[in-house]
Amino acid sequence: MPSVKNPYEAVIVGAGIAGAAIAKALKNNNISNFLVVDKGLGPATGTSAHGHALCHPYIGRGASRLQRLTFLAFKEARDVWGKHWCGQGVFHLPRTQEGFTKQIMSERLLSQGFKFDMAMPMDQAEANEKIGVQSGGTFFPEGGWVNLEQACHEVFVEMAPEQKLWATKLRKIEKVDGQWMLWDDQDQLIASTERLFLANGLGVKDLAESIDISLPLKPVRGQLSKFRFSKQSTWAQHLPRYALSGKAYCLTPEEKGDEFEWVVGSSYDEEVDDLNVWDSSHAENKALIKEMLNQALHDDELKVKDAFVGVRCVASDRLPIMGPVKSQPGLYILTSLGSRGVMWSALASQMFTEHLAYEKNHSAFLDARFFAGARLAAAGLDSVLAEALLPARFFAGVSNSKPILPSA
Ligand SMILES: Cc1cc2nc3c(=O)[nH]c(=O)nc-3n(C[C@H](O)[C@H](O)[C@H](O)COP(=O)(O)OP(=O)(O)OC[C@H]3O[C@@H](n4cnc5c(N)ncnc54)[C@H](O)[C@@H]3O)c2cc1C
Repeated sequence: MPSVKNPYEAVIVGAGIAGAAIAKALKNNNISNFLVVDKGLGPATGTSAHGHALCHPYIGRGASRLQRLTFLAFKEARDVWGKHWCGQGVFHLPRTQEGFTKQIMSERLLSQGFKFDMAMPMDQAEANEKIGVQSGGTFFPEGGWVNLEQACHEVFVEMAPEQKLWATKLRKIEKVDGQWMLWDDQDQLIASTERLFLANGLGVKDLAESIDISLPLKPVRGQLSKFRFSKQSTWAQHLPRYALSGKAYCLTPEEKGDEFEWVVGSSYDEEVDDLNVWDSSHAENKALIKEMLNQALHDDELKVKDAFVGVRCVASDRLPIMGPVKSQPGLYILTSLGSRGVMWSALASQMFTEHLAYEKNHSAFLDARFFAGARLAAAGLDSVLAEALLPARFFAGVSNSKPILPSA
C-alpha cells in the first residue's frame, strides 16, 4: 500500500459508471499509477449494477441547457460506450398526445439542431405501422440501451490487482501538504494522491462535507421490472418493435420458449433509498406501460419474473455535477447522474480527458474552469454549458434550491 510519502498520481472513489468514465479519461492521458476504491466487493455493485440503461437525447420545448447538453452527450455516449450498445432505435412518446402534431414536432426538432436522420417525428398512423404503438412520437434511430454493469467490468478488469481496493468505505478526505489523504471508516489512512476524483454517487455528499463543502444531493429510488407473458396473451398481440420511452420505458420483448420476457421501468420515488423490491412499483410500471401502449391489454397476463432496484443520485437542479472543485486544486467530482448515467458519464469522460490533458500540458491545476477542448467546443459546448455542470454552482452558501452560476 503506498504511503503518504509514496502517493498515487490519482485515486478514484467509486467503481460505478462514473468511476469507469474517469478511469478512461486517466488512461487517455497515460496516467497509469492510479487506484480505485469502492466499498463493494467489485465494480458496479451500486446503481450501475444493471444492464438496461436506455439512452436517447432529451427533447424539450426549447433549447434549454438540458436539451443542449444531452444533444452533445448522446453523441459522446455512442463513442464512449458504443461497445456495450444494444437495440436499434428508441421511440419516444410525449407525456400527452394533446398538442402533438408531426408538423410542430418537426419544427421543434429542427430548431434544436436535430437532422431528420437523428430524430424522426411520426404521427399515429406511421407509429402504428413502423413501431407497433398507437400514439405519435419521435423515433431516434441511433437510440438504444447500455449494459452499465458490463461497461464497468470491462474498464476495471484491465487494471492490475494492486490498483483496485474493494470492500473499503471512505469516511473522510483532507488536504495535507499538497496531497489528498483518504481515510476509511476504521480511521485508517489508506492512500494519498495528487488528484482525487469523487465518483461515489450519493456518498460524494458525506466526503465533500468532510472538507466543509455542502452539495444538494438526494436519493431517488427506482425499480425496473422484468415481466413475462405468454405468446397467447393480449400483450403478445401488441409487441412494440423498438424500445420505448416516455412516462415509462421498456426494451424490446425477448422471446424465451413459449413466453416473452420484458424489461419495463422505472418507478421514481424521491427521497427514498430503500433497496427492497416493492409490489407497488411493479404495479406502477405495469400501469404506465399499458397506458403508453394504449391497447386493450389484460393486467393479469403480465407476471413478474425479476426486478432491479437502485437509488439514483440527483442534484437539486437535476443536472449532473462534474468537473474540478473551485479552490481545491486536485479535487474533482462526478456525481448526480440521475436517470441519465449513460450520457452524463460519457460526456464527463471526454471532458475530463481534455481537462487533464490541459492541466498536464501546463503543469498546473485548473480548478475554476472545466476545460472542454476544441472538439467539444466546436460541437457546441460553450462556457455557459460547461459552467452549468461545475460543483461551484452550489457554492453560494445561502440557498441550494436555485443554483447560482459562476460568472467566470
Ligand atoms: C431503476 C433505474 C433505472 C435506470 N435507468 C437508466 C436508464 O435507462 N438510462 C440511464 O442512462 N440511466 C439510468 N439509470 C441511472 C444510472 O443507473 C445511474 O445514473 C448510474 O448508474 C450512476 O452511476 P454512478 O457511478 O454515479 O453510481 P454507482 O453506480 O452507485 O457507483 C457509486 C459507487 O460508489 C461506491 N461508494 C459509495 N460511497 C462510497 C464510499 N464512501 N467509499 C467507497 N465507495 C463508495 C458504491 O459502492 C458504488 O459502487 C437508472 C437508475 C435506476 C435506479
